[in-house]
Amino acid sequence: MVFHSRKHKHNPNAVHTHLQEAQSHDTRNDKIGTCWSYVGKFGGAQIVSLQAPDARGPNCLGKEGRAIHELLHALGIFHEQSRADRDRFVDVHMENVIPEFRNNFDKQSLENTTYKFEYDYDSIMHYGKSFFSSGKGRPTITPKTKGAKLGQREAMSKTDCLKVNDLYGCLDKSVAARRKYYALCDMMGL
Ligand SMILES: [Zn+2]
Repeated sequence: MVFHSRKHKHNPNAVHTHLQEAQSHDTRNDKIGTCWSYVGKFGGAQIVSLQAPDARGPNCLGKEGRAIHELLHALGIFHEQSRADRDRFVDVHMENVIPEFRNNFDKQSLENTTYKFEYDYDSIMHYGKSFFSSGKGRPTITPKTKGAKLGQREAMSKTDCLKVNDLYGCLDKSVAARRKYYALCDMMGL
């Protein structure tokens, strides 16, 4: 991964508790363990919870994408669908969301989520269409662009890679650095 950390410029007031995300991934099966992280620097040692495999299943370690997702939170990246401008790109069906998890669909400020990049359906930070659903056939998020798929947990997208490098100031160092990171993200990202 292309993480050249510098001073963290994430707003500490925007720290967002991200507990119980595990249930989001499929509320109809409990094979998924507790995987969560705070968003951004919280002070002191930072906990990222990645429940180890057990008799019930692989929990958070079935795919490396689950770990990458949580680590990107720890680095300060919010969910893609919490972007301030998300309503232009997806419909959130709050009535289909399990009530205690509705705040997971809150929007964040423009500054915290949008950066300079286009909305990214391919982001590893985007929820899938039935995350936190109250039942089968009740989508919680649908894309406005026909055919767009949501919720991949394979790898960072190109934009995920650019976002994290932008957040840590790597894209603004020089024209050459910018070119380098764009080329790396092009090659590495989905
Ligand atoms: Zn998450």
